[in-house]
Amino acid sequence: MAKDENLIVGRMLIGGEFVESEGGGWIDTINPANERLIGRVPDGNAADVARAVEAASRAQKDWAALDMAGRADLLNRLGDAIMERAGEIAELEAIDTGNTIGKMQADVEKSVERIRLAAGLGLELKGETIPSTSSGLHFTLRTPYGIVGRIIPFNHPFGFAASRLASAIIPGNAIIIKPCETSPLSACVLGEIVNEILPPGVVNIVTGGAATGEAIVRHPKIKRIAFIGHSGTGMKIQRTAAEVAVKHVTLELGGKNPMIICPDADLEAASAAAVRGMNFAWQGQSCGSTSRLLLHESVYDTVLPKVLDRIGRMKAGDPLDPASSMGPMNSKMQYDKTMEYIEIAKQDGATLAAGGKRPEGAGFENGFWVEPTVFTDVTMDMRIAQEEVFGPVLSVLKWKEIDEAIEMANAVDYGLTASLWTKDLGLALRLVREIEAGYIWVNGCGTHYRNVPHGGFKNSGTGREEGIDELLSYTEVKAVNILAG
Ligand code: NAD
Repeated sequence: MAKDENLIVGRMLIGGEFVESEGGGWIDTINPANERLIGRVPDGNAADVARAVEAASRAQKDWAALDMAGRADLLNRLGDAIMERAGEIAELEAIDTGNTIGKMQADVEKSVERIRLAAGLGLELKGETIPSTSSGLHFTLRTPYGIVGRIIPFNHPFGFAASRLASAIIPGNAIIIKPCETSPLSACVLGEIVNEILPPGVVNIVTGGAATGEAIVRHPKIKRIAFIGHSGTGMKIQRTAAEVAVKHVTLELGGKNPMIICPDADLEAASAAAVRGMNFAWQGQSCGSTSRLLLHESVYDTVLPKVLDRIGRMKAGDPLDPASSMGPMNSKMQYDKTMEYIEIAKQDGATLAAGGKRPEGAGFENGFWVEPTVFTDVTMDMRIAQEEVFGPVLSVLKWKEIDEAIEMANAVDYGLTASLWTKDLGLALRLVREIEAGYIWVNGCGTHYRNVPHGGFKNSGTGREEGIDELLSYTEVKAVNILAG
């Protein structure tokens, strides 16, 4: 990326060329730790999306004509090339997102692991033979859609852009990726790396905001759209797509995820998990954060002090400092939204047990800082128990009977993750059956495991990513019936 008087100037990657927007617009990006301008990227418009679609169309047939081994080899080489620039990417990500450096390094490593997983799973994109008649041959083929549109959120920009491109292109699709406008810089570095390894036009990166995303959704030649972001945006995308054509839209959306701690749980491990599951290292800005802690009344007075103690020892600070346990919120919008929810929680009668404001002292004068915050006495009729804050705000609720805990866990419009703490296998199995969530941990939290499908029930999404299901979702099934002539 070009550096213009210390400003990082990103370019879009379209058809193997680094370009600016045809509309001439730019979007500034700031460091959320201090609000200083750090870079800018083109504000892509519908004409840029159309250019990217043309480039993708030109590239896709030759790409799909490569053997699977050829595509897998290139993806593995892409993984190697990303690792060579991992340190630089993690630093850029930390100053552009506000997320802490160690976690951003892990994001880069994880995205490479997933690229390699997708490369290895390519040969599993198999069809079936069906014994429908004895004289004929009936089978299915998995064919690529052609061009995939991928729209990503701000919280793991590199991770989502890099890892998710692999599952889309290994079946033979070309892709157009749009990063989020508040942390777009790492996608431009990804463009540079991609351009060294992959044929031009197979991966195109178009930067911009909501209008750019909408242009992707509306383009008639993009039948397959994959989105990660807010539930409201996901619904809008489904509506917009339906205005244009019949499209295959998958959505990875928000969550208001429960962690249920039962009386027989390992309380030390569960208390640590209650903090870990909030993903404070990226300020709670994670779809999977277990932001509702459901404590049995008999363990409430044991677990809560342990949780508050751990949170009290956290240290907000420069995201580039490995000693910082959390950084700033990603944007002013995220900051304002979190502060608004803190006020709403107070007004609704929740008790502020920790945090609730901007940290004090040097280094926090500017930037979008919010202390790790805990509310107790939360009840399910409060907005803080129902709505996704997407910030460092944990709500603590109390229950007596397990039926009550299940009802509370399910009484939201979301159903992404759930973390259940008990040593009773029978109880664990009952909870697993009855909790409405797409990704469940028993005696664990937070970790995404290789090839285990991730996605949501209810308004948390549709479709599954991160494993073979994701790869299959980028193919269409063609049924073939060969009859004895
Ligand atoms: P967002 O919905 O505001 O934006 C996401 C992306 O969509 C951005 O690139 C944005 O420019 C684009 N966009 C906005 N409006 C659009 C439109 N009308 N048409 C097309 N594109 C549009 O989300 P965000 O604030 O960036 O991310 C936070 C949300 O993402 C949270 O709700 C979080 O839970 C969710 N999320 C979900 C997962 C998951 O795996 N389920 C993972 C990470 C984040």
